[in-house]
Amino acid sequence: MTGLREAHAHIAAHGREMSQLNLSECHSKRECLERLAAESARLEAVGEPGWVVANGVRVEAWEEATWPTMAELDAASPLRACMVQSFDHHACAVNSAAFVEAGWHRGSADPVGGRIVRDRDGLPTGLLLESAFGAARRAVPEPTPDQWRRFVASALRDLAGHGFSEVHDLLSPVWLGPMLGSVLDELRADIGIAMTVWLYPILEDAAAVHSRKGEWESDRVVLAGAKVFADGTLNSRTAWMLEPYADGMPGLEHGQAMVSPVQLDAALNLTADLGIGLAVHAIGDAAVRAVLDAGGRHTRLTGVRNSAGVREVVVAGRCAVPRLRVEHAELVDEADVPRFAESGVVCSVQPCHLLYDIEALRRGQPERLDRVLPLRDLIDAGCTPGGVLWFGSDVPIVRPHPGDSIRAAVHRRREGMAPHEAIAPAQAITDAEAWQSFGRRT
Ligand SMILES: [Zn+2]
Repeated sequence: MTGLREAHAHIAAHGREMSQLNLSECHSKRECLERLAAESARLEAVGEPGWVVANGVRVEAWEEATWPTMAELDAASPLRACMVQSFDHHACAVNSAAFVEAGWHRGSADPVGGRIVRDRDGLPTGLLLESAFGAARRAVPEPTPDQWRRFVASALRDLAGHGFSEVHDLLSPVWLGPMLGSVLDELRADIGIAMTVWLYPILEDAAAVHSRKGEWESDRVVLAGAKVFADGTLNSRTAWMLEPYADGMPGLEHGQAMVSPVQLDAALNLTADLGIGLAVHAIGDAAVRAVLDAGGRHTRLTGVRNSAGVREVVVAGRCAVPRLRVEHAELVDEADVPRFAESGVVCSVQPCHLLYDIEALRRGQPERLDRVLPLRDLIDAGCTPGGVLWFGSDVPIVRPHPGDSIRAAVHRRREGMAPHEAIAPAQAITDAEAWQSFGRRT
């Protein structure tokens, strides 16, 4: 590896989001409408199919502090469906074409768990909340194969620009492997960067992807493993925790286990049969423990230990990948910290999320803040940075700039925050250790 390793990315989704209009820097409704109109006209001019989708909107920060109306969006995008999404992914405004394509008419009832906001006369304003927002998002047409190919190429170019030469895709669509060879060839010819991509399709797709990988697998495109979800997310209070949330949901006080021990064992067995690794999404400390327990039970977690202590399997006789890796590990109980290095299970974390999650962590797990990303403890327990401990970003959930994770790992807080606002400052690591976790050699 000549550059850095991005150990957790969603390449196609990143490229798709890059292709959409980003309005996070927009200051007013007027500016938003002008930019939408320009984008709508541009897409018409080049004959690009699909909707006009804009992201990252913070209406509260606009001069008018009001969403554009359906009529205003119709005027900005008269010929195609248009959707403006809130930065927090809980609301959007749509024009009438998008409203109809989402399956609604003026008199439609609110969907369960959502709201179609209406004016004084009872007519939809275009603003959609929660599950109504979700329904509109699902109505956005699936990109064509040609569009996906362009999205993948622009995402990889962007990641190369951030210094990455190895990218791990943690929920790979089945079509990604066959597409990547020629995309990587073009990238190399264009910008001189030879990139390697590791793929982790969801477990249910793994056998099918594996059966055809002879057609596309190479030294640079590798089916590295399968992916399984052990829990939900922190912001939805569904990450599976040892201690109850201070603000949990009734019946889900500890979050949600999304996998049973039996299912984890089956996942380890299936991937052992296929000769590939397993990556498990585990954000809460209970989920992390469940994965380490499964690894401990699994007699076929043998593999060979590399010089850093990672237990590896060799895929297709050419590339060594971790037998088992835990994705996210945002909380790790003290008792589980030494188990990564002991068992050779990779701890794949995205410290940059700390910068966004500080408030949610304070509200949800105020008594457990010292267990958030215990990087110092992990390294002291033998998780070598870049060996057993890997950094990534989870782009496009957050941006892929490696400097964000470096800042979070070293300073444990956002820029401009006072030192006492840091989360678990005793878990800070050095700048050098943080860069090594991205695979930088010193
Ligand atoms: Zn992810």
